[in-house]
Amino acid sequence: MDLNFRSIFQRTFYYQFNSVHVLTYVLTYHKHGAGKGILRLYISNIAAPKNLIKNTNGNFSKINKVPNLVCPECGEVLGVPTISKGQRRAYRMRQGYFHRKLEK
Ligand SMILES: [Zn+2]
Repeated sequence: MDLNFRSIFQRTFYYQFNSVHVLTYVLTYHKHGAGKGILRLYISNIAAPKNLIKNTNGNFSKINKVPNLVCPECGEVLGVPTISKGQRRAYRMRQGYFHRKLEK
């Protein structure tokens, strides 16, 4: 595929998520296409860190077996596992508990 085509139509944005109280790095998320809404993070789009990906990649029979997304510093719950409309596993993020930053 032509690179220009790809960059226009398949832009991927990387967001860094930090817990808001101590600005601790939580994860890196890649999002396809523009759009502000990031209240649900598709688990398969979490790009880093490796230990989080490993924790969420297990063979969980039910969505409620997937571990909560927690602040690595204090264990505060930042997101809870859910199933999106498209039947994908996602974290529903708690508003006000995280800060996101677009990586360039
Ligand atoms: Zn914390």
